[in-house]
Amino acid sequence: MNLIQHFVDGKPNKGSSNKKGKVFNPATGEQTSEVVLANKNDLDKAVEIAKKAFENWSQKPAIHRARVMFKFKELIEKNSEELTKLIVNEHGKVFEDAKGSLIRGLEVVEFACGIPQVLKGEFSENVGTNVDSWSIRQPLGVVAGITPFNFPAMVPMWMFPIAIACGNTFILKPSEKDPSCSLRLAELLKDSGLPDGVFNVINGSKEAVDAILENKDIKAVSFVGSTPIAKYIYETAAKNEKRVQALGGAKNHLVVMPDCDIDGAVDGLMGAAYGSAGERCMAQSVAVAVGDIGDKLVSRLSKKVEALKVGPGMDKNSEMGPLVTKDHLEKVRSYVELGVKEGASLLVDGRNLKLQGFENGYYIGGCLFDNVKKNMRIYKEEIFGPVLSVVRVDSFEDATKLINDHEFGNGVSIFTKDGDAGRTFASKIQAGMVGINVPIPVPMAFHSFGGWKRSLFGDSGMHGAEGVKFYTKLKTVTSRWPSGIRSNPEFVMPTMK
Ligand code: NAD
Repeated sequence: MNLIQHFVDGKPNKGSSNKKGKVFNPATGEQTSEVVLANKNDLDKAVEIAKKAFENWSQKPAIHRARVMFKFKELIEKNSEELTKLIVNEHGKVFEDAKGSLIRGLEVVEFACGIPQVLKGEFSENVGTNVDSWSIRQPLGVVAGITPFNFPAMVPMWMFPIAIACGNTFILKPSEKDPSCSLRLAELLKDSGLPDGVFNVINGSKEAVDAILENKDIKAVSFVGSTPIAKYIYETAAKNEKRVQALGGAKNHLVVMPDCDIDGAVDGLMGAAYGSAGERCMAQSVAVAVGDIGDKLVSRLSKKVEALKVGPGMDKNSEMGPLVTKDHLEKVRSYVELGVKEGASLLVDGRNLKLQGFENGYYIGGCLFDNVKKNMRIYKEEIFGPVLSVVRVDSFEDATKLINDHEFGNGVSIFTKDGDAGRTFASKIQAGMVGINVPIPVPMAFHSFGGWKRSLFGDSGMHGAEGVKFYTKLKTVTSRWPSGIRSNPEFVMPTMK
């Protein structure tokens, strides 16, 4: 059995705990690896090493750190097929989608290549007579990232390229369900010239996470995952005096206006609801049909959902792969059952899907509910599977109220030809990322990613300017170089003279 280890101080490390997790190939249901699960001792040792590495790394010129990122970009491109296969084999998503997610991560590396420009501070000459003032942003020290299963390359890469390029050292705790890609990225960083100890991967579950939250030398924690854990991370890390950003779950709505290009909206919904089997925090899991568009929308959607090609992620013909684990498959199936009990109309039921030769894989076909109501649990809760709910409302105002009343506020979209509706939607909607005739409005690396309400705890999003701000602290220097020694002490607040 393949053993997945930690990566500390530039090499694989078995750690001291004998606890192990199981890693499966979701396409076949076979266990492919065991992963070592860290205890507090393992985490503390890795932090000690990262703290030591910070002394030199933080002093390197930004251009030096940028050059490591340039090399890393080149190596990711060179090894993209291998990295993509690692994602597919442990997560299950289809190959081209997995490759796309790797590229979205790579874009953050490209952003980090420009770090000397981004880290430039501000300077004011003569803030007082012969007094100058400037501000700089300096790295924090050892920082940690705790990431979810659904983007094994992209979400860690939202964090560590910027953190490292800013001069920090990093501990990554990837999801224990699909950790292999993170370890390969660690090797590629080493091959890019990154000094040992600057980037470390610690595998594990709650015990490892709690050790991160308790370790006094970790100055900041970035988390992406489900809302209950995000809240726990936010509260515990803040109590332990750390800087924290904790991105949580979602229930994203796509509003279909009566005047929209209906084929564009249906195609958009198909990709956004069923791509990656709905296991995306930006998946559109609710279609809000406004006015009389509902019948037209569900009849077109039903045909397409029934025709979805479900299969192993490595099969070029598959449009949708399996879910990540057997437990998650059971959870999604139970939500479909719940929706039926709650009285929603199940127009397409994917639960009976069987794939010859892949009977033990974690597959479910696309599911489509109509007449979903706002008090139903299938509307309120995140299912994180290929289940789309259609909610019918009378007006644009009802659609925006429905969305604004929801506890989550990650991404939203509207499909319309009416500029006024699009503009009002962007202005009034209570969500962090908004699409207008764009189904999945994921910001590029040079903008920042983050939701509102219970989709993000903390005050900064990932990557772009927000990422740089999160991984650095501000220092403002005020200086004077007097030609003679001043004789009189001043006892009043200095003001400009
Ligand atoms: P999860 O919350 O179960 O796990 C995320 C991380 O937390 C993992 O590394 C896991 O090991 C750790 N963890 C799990 N339980 C823990 C506990 N009790 N104490 C401490 N740590 C714990 O999430 P997941 O199932 O891996 O990922 C799916 C979730 O992530 C969905 O809710 C999805 O919406 C969310 N997500 C959000 C975003 C975003 O940007 N808002 C992006 C991707 C995924």
